[in-house]
Amino acid sequence: MAVKTLITGFPRIGEQRELKKVLEDYWAGNISFDEVENTARTLRKKHWRLQKDAGIDFISSNDFSLYDNMLDTIVMLNAVPERFAGIGDKNERYFAMVRGNEKAAAMEMTKWFNTNYHFIVPELSDDLIFRLDSSKLLCEYREAKEAGLTTKINIIGPLTFLELSKTRDGGDSFKYLHRIMPVYRELLEEIAKPGESVYLQFDEPALVRNPSGEILSLLRPVYSELAGLSDHINIIVTSYFEHSVEATKILAGTPIWGIGLDFVHGRRNLEGLEAAAAKTLIAGVVDGRNIWRNDISASLDLLNRIQKVIPQDRIVVSTSCSLLHSPYSIKNEGQGDVKKYLAFAYEKVEEVSLLARLFSSGPLSAAEESLIGENKKNLLPGSGPNRAKDNTARPAEPGGKAREGSYAERRAIQEKRLNLPVLPTTTIGSFPQTSELRKARNDYKKGLLPDAAYEAVIKKYIDDCVVFQEEIGLDVLVHGEPERNDMVEYFGELLDGFHFTKNGWVQSYGSRCVKPPVIFGDISRPEPMTVKWISYAQGKTKKPMKGMLTGPVTILNWSFVRNDIPRSVVAKQIALALSDEIADLQKAGIKIIQVDEAAFREGYPLRKENTGGYEQWALEAFRLAVSSADKATQIHTHMCYSEFSGIIKTIEAMDADVLTIETARSGNKLLGVFREAAYQNEIGPGVYDIHSPRIPPAAEFREQIMARLEVLDKQKMWVNPDCGLKTRRWEEVRPALKNMVEAALAVRGEISGAIS
Ligand code: GLN
Ligand code: ZN
Repeated sequence: MAVKTLITGFPRIGEQRELKKVLEDYWAGNISFDEVENTARTLRKKHWRLQKDAGIDFISSNDFSLYDNMLDTIVMLNAVPERFAGIGDKNERYFAMVRGNEKAAAMEMTKWFNTNYHFIVPELSDDLIFRLDSSKLLCEYREAKEAGLTTKINIIGPLTFLELSKTRDGGDSFKYLHRIMPVYRELLEEIAKPGESVYLQFDEPALVRNPSGEILSLLRPVYSELAGLSDHINIIVTSYFEHSVEATKILAGTPIWGIGLDFVHGRRNLEGLEAAAAKTLIAGVVDGRNIWRNDISASLDLLNRIQKVIPQDRIVVSTSCSLLHSPYSIKNEGQGDVKKYLAFAYEKVEEVSLLARLFSSGPLSAAEESLIGENKKNLLPGSGPNRAKDNTARPAEPGGKAREGSYAERRAIQEKRLNLPVLPTTTIGSFPQTSELRKARNDYKKGLLPDAAYEAVIKKYIDDCVVFQEEIGLDVLVHGEPERNDMVEYFGELLDGFHFTKNGWVQSYGSRCVKPPVIFGDISRPEPMTVKWISYAQGKTKKPMKGMLTGPVTILNWSFVRNDIPRSVVAKQIALALSDEIADLQKAGIKIIQVDEAAFREGYPLRKENTGGYEQWALEAFRLAVSSADKATQIHTHMCYSEFSGIIKTIEAMDADVLTIETARSGNKLLGVFREAAYQNEIGPGVYDIHSPRIPPAAEFREQIMARLEVLDKQKMWVNPDCGLKTRRWEEVRPALKNMVEAALAVRGEISGAIS
């Protein structure tokens, strides 16, 4: 009997990002919701069909979403926060929750485990009335039926849902378990139809993050109850991104049907197999979140190892996690050296299918052997591009080369040199990317726009940015990043060792996608990358112009990195290139340089026992990058959505003069740890939620600033937005920043007496 196959989830944004396009058109008021639905339906059908054609047995429904699966779960449980409850139209309410409206601020968004995908954080409170809304889930299930498929239904498990929720009263979110369980139960009762077997995949990735005693103790009762409801229901509990050995042992004693484990990023899952020997094992052996071809013979070895514990007829070959984190297909890539090493979602589906076939077939035939031989040629390093110039041989102090001077010493020098007021105002770097700008950049890349004309467009944009910032009275200016399509791609294109895909888009949040570069060789900097534009911008103003770089850890974490070189080595290579760039900026007279580390936090390993190693090399890379900065050069760093508790010592050791972070949606909650740790350096807590089109009035900014002052030292606080403004429109940004500066000036006036 052939070994069965399962795909944990499939990307939904579409081969040509169709979903993104219709959503944004709908939000802009250009099309009706029906058109969004039509596109969504077409995409689902297409994705189901291609999995079916590849011979996949368990294909998911409800892996689709118009925005996010956590948001869908919030709707499914009717956990809609009160401020949106009054919006009668269901679709309007759905999008208001994530985009905000005039009356209500959007819900918080944060990163999904250690990926760059963002989910909506549920807000739980006692007044919620949990009630089942199964419409989306059932619609998609029926839609698949009409298309001739019986799908496995994906659901976010109750434990992960709660673990990722916040509570209004700050209490433990698991106290709501007894209130959401009846809703899950009702859902299952609705799904369970006599005479029809249904497969449900409960995603429980919370189980991989050093699960607490509490979550482990709830596992058995929750899944015993759900799996015991009906004989027609087969529950698979799936975890990914790491091992979940503790949970596997417990789940083995519940009446669930299968356990889904990630053997790519959670090798230790092998240790839990004995306990699970009576279950069906969904063996995630094809990496769902990197883009290299599967090493077929290594995967077969792994499956054979698993087979020693679990009989083959109870092994289902699968992806390590949802393919949501992979681009669509390499079919749309041009020819090139790197292409043959790549496998995106579509190709991974075929890999799963092929692996199951080879695994079933026992001793391999000559044809199969030669297929494996072919596969070997498409793996790095094997016959891969040679590693040309390993520049890490350049001297770098172990433990992370330190900058010159202590923070106190640097602060004194910088204060004199920069002469900034209290509560200095700044932005995070990018200004709105207009369609003209995008067109100019694309035309230039295609060779349709000559150098001089392109330069004129960029310079004009910078000119306008500077004039605007001076007009509203910001203290530290930026050039607006008009020459950058993306903060990582821009640097990758100028560094050696990177490959760029044509269509390798991966969903980041809602309609937003990123196209991570592929690091396939050693990295070096042939020439300066930002000096020309930053110097031009500085030439237009007497105020300090902030140089803008993306940090080594972020460039690494937002790229697809080859598996055969340690990440620490790649980070160091990038750091050396950036350190040269900082030296050049400094020489050109730039006094403030921001090194963005937006992805520093998300790179943390999910298991505590592994964080030490990561912290060491990540910190080392950051410090190496900024080690070329003089005492007089003020180094800023920026991090979005960071949960800093537990990593505050590392943040301290990064020793940036100024750290800007996201706090507009999360309020003071994040800042407590800085106070408790007696963090010494300056902080710019975000006061403008840039993920929402909303324009906060000056009074609201004032409140935000006053609230931050309750926690932070006024001598060391900056006023700035949460993040870059490139995804916003000028019509929003102009009034919003004007209000922000106005509020900062007012507060400055009120408190300055108290300071001097
Ligand atoms: N400087 C970048 C920008 O402003 C930072 C973006 C980020 O942190 N994601 O766009
Ligand atoms: Zn940011």
